[in-house]
Amino acid sequence: MCEFSAIQRGRIRQRFVAEIPVKAGIYEHGFPPKACGNDKKEDMGKTLKSIGEFALIDRLRKVFPAGKDVICGIGDDAAVYSASKNRYQLLAIDTIVEDIDFEIRKIPPEMIGRKALAINLSDIAAMGGIPKIAVVSLVLPAKTQVQFIERFADGLKKLAKQYNVSIVGGDLSRGPCLCATVAITGEIDPGHVILRKGSKPGDLIFVTGSLGGSILGKHFQLTPRVAEGQFLSEFGISAMIDISDGLIQDLNHLISGNRLGYVLDERKIPISEAAKRLSRKDRKSGLHHAFYDGEDFELLFTVARKKKEQLERLWKRLFCTPLTHIGEVVENSRSKPYLIKKAGYQHF
Ligand SMILES: [Mg+2]
Repeated sequence: MCEFSAIQRGRIRQRFVAEIPVKAGIYEHGFPPKACGNDKKEDMGKTLKSIGEFALIDRLRKVFPAGKDVICGIGDDAAVYSASKNRYQLLAIDTIVEDIDFEIRKIPPEMIGRKALAINLSDIAAMGGIPKIAVVSLVLPAKTQVQFIERFADGLKKLAKQYNVSIVGGDLSRGPCLCATVAITGEIDPGHVILRKGSKPGDLIFVTGSLGGSILGKHFQLTPRVAEGQFLSEFGISAMIDISDGLIQDLNHLISGNRLGYVLDERKIPISEAAKRLSRKDRKSGLHHAFYDGEDFELLFTVARKKKEQLERLWKRLFCTPLTHIGEVVENSRSKPYLIKKAGYQHF
C-alpha cells in the first residue's frame, strides 16, 4: 500500500515543482542526458563551462567503454571489477584543490588530509564495500612547508587507521597550488554490490543523517557511512549513491532512465541544524539548503517497500545514525519528463 495517498502525492509534487520554477537551463529529469555527439565542428568553441560536468562525463564514458571483467565502469561512485569468482574489487578516486575545495589559510592541514581520504571512503560506502588500500598523489608549490605536509599526512593517517585502510604509496609533483588526490580500493561479495541503477517503481527512498549547510563544517568533518553502507548491501537494497552534489542532483543520478521519477515528501526531509542556521543568514529556506547544498556525504538509497519495517527495526538496533524515509520512486508516465531547474554543485 502506497504510504503517500494519490492526493498527497499530487500536492507534494505540486509543491515540490512550485519550489523550483522552470526556467532556461532546465534539467530533464527522468530521462538519460542527451547525447552530445563528438563531431569536432560541433565542439568548436565549447568549453567545460558551457557543456557542464555531467555532459563531459557522458562523453568520457563513450571514449572509455567498460572492458572485460569490468562490472561497472564510468558513472557510479566506484568502478567494480571482477577480481575472482567470489570477490569484486572496487576502485574510486577523488581530488580536492586549493581555493576550489578549501582555503589553505583557514583550514588546518590535518583536516585537509582527513577530507582527501574521507570523500573516497564515502564512495566505497555508497557501493556497500569494505575499504582496503589507498594511494595519495600531491601537487605542491615548492614553497610549501614540510610541517604542513606532515600535518596533512597525520590527519589522513588517523582516518585511515580508524577505517582499517592502508596507505601504500603515492606521487609528488610541483604545481601552482595544492591538489590532493586519493585513489582507494575496496572489496565486496558479488551478490552484495549496490549500484546507482536498480531502483524500481514503488521502491522507497531513504537518506541517512541530516542534510544541508555542510559549508559550516560538515564537509570537513564528514563521517563516511562505511558500516551503514555494508549493512545495506547485505540487507538488500535496490540502488545507492552518496550525496556529494546535493540531494536533488544526486537523486537525479540515482533515479534516471527507464521513465522513472520520484516523489518527495518535503515535510520529511531531515534538515540539518547547520542548514537552519544558514537559512537565518540568507534568504533561502532550510529546505532549499537540504535540497541543493553539496557535500553532505550521506547515503541516499532505494529499497523495496516490503522491506521497510525490517530495515527500520534492524537499523535502530545497529546504528545511531538517523535514517529517514523521504519519498518513493514512481513511474514517470508523462509524455514529457518532469522539469526541474538545474541545480546542485557542478565543477565547471
Ligand atoms: Mg559519490
